[in-house]
Amino acid sequence: MSPFPREDFGRLTLYAPDRRPVAVDLSDNTNQWGTHPAALERIRAATADDLARYPELYADVLRDQVAATFGVPRACVATGCGSDDVLDSTFRAVWGPGAFVSYAAPTFSLIEPFAHVNGMEAHAVSWRDALDDPGRLLQGRPALVYVCRPNNPTGEMAPRTWVERLLELVGEGGPLVLLDEAYADFSGETILREATGHRRLLVARTLSKAYGLAGLRIGFAVGAPETVLEVEKSRGPYKITRLGSEAGAAALADLGGWMATAVSECVENRTRLVEALTERGLPPCDSRANFLLIRSLSGSAKDDALALRAEGVAVRPFSDIPGFGDALRVTVGPWPLMQTFLDALDRVRSR
Ligand SMILES: *Cc1c(COP(=O)(O)O)cnc(C)c1O
Repeated sequence: MSPFPREDFGRLTLYAPDRRPVAVDLSDNTNQWGTHPAALERIRAATADDLARYPELYADVLRDQVAATFGVPRACVATGCGSDDVLDSTFRAVWGPGAFVSYAAPTFSLIEPFAHVNGMEAHAVSWRDALDDPGRLLQGRPALVYVCRPNNPTGEMAPRTWVERLLELVGEGGPLVLLDEAYADFSGETILREATGHRRLLVARTLSKAYGLAGLRIGFAVGAPETVLEVEKSRGPYKITRLGSEAGAAALADLGGWMATAVSECVENRTRLVEALTERGLPPCDSRANFLLIRSLSGSAKDDALALRAEGVAVRPFSDIPGFGDALRVTVGPWPLMQTFLDALDRVRSR
């Protein structure tokens, strides 16, 4: 019998969040201030060669800039077509017979599919249990432990001491710890640099959120050279476009400029939105990211999201978050957009 289609692919589906056009889209945590001007400038200066010729094999322009921006050696930097690609490649790199991934749940919705598509099971440990005892993530000897910090969709941040304890328990021979810092720019705290000297730690980053480059698909990870080499092999050559590598590098070179301004406004508006939601009896989870998670208005997050969409605002619904129930995740943006969201929320609630 033909092995195609794969039997274990039966449980996989295409990723299908509601992406229909809407006036104000606060559903995907992209940068509501726009995009990094230095990246846009590089794209606008594109030549025929940028498109006609193959890019560098392993995105060295981008790797060199990540190295310069964060003060790490180039050999400690892996890249990918978005950090999704870095995560997927890392999962593939740890695969072996019986290998599985463990993670603190709820977390990034693509973790289970990435495990499954790479022929692995994904074991969820509840966020509270994992926070009480990081050793719970090591039960059954996983090949990989995924932790998102700050966590999507709650915005909560595992303390630094917790990560250090987890790494202590992992030791030299334990699983690889994949720390997803997609929102670290908003939390102002990172352990990216420490990863260069730790063979069991890989820290993933993206330019899709704080840098406003989700459409360009640029992600990277920092770890020990031996770890990074395996991820680069797993991902393969030519995955970053020439324009992506150079525009991404241009944005990273300007660390204190556009990005820092957008992030500080975002953090201010996050505080202001927490107050506005709390006044309405909807206190959000304690977030260090560019989004807030609130309880469902009606008990059904899907219904709420549709009602808000009818008012011109998209948020991301989540079903049955443990200890929280149905919930809505809303991206923080410039205040006029937040006011539009609050007005839509008030209209939906007054019905
Ligand atoms: C948005 C997001 C990513 C990343 O995305 P790319 O666009 O693929 O770089 C990765 N991890 C988490 C937790 C995210 O929320």
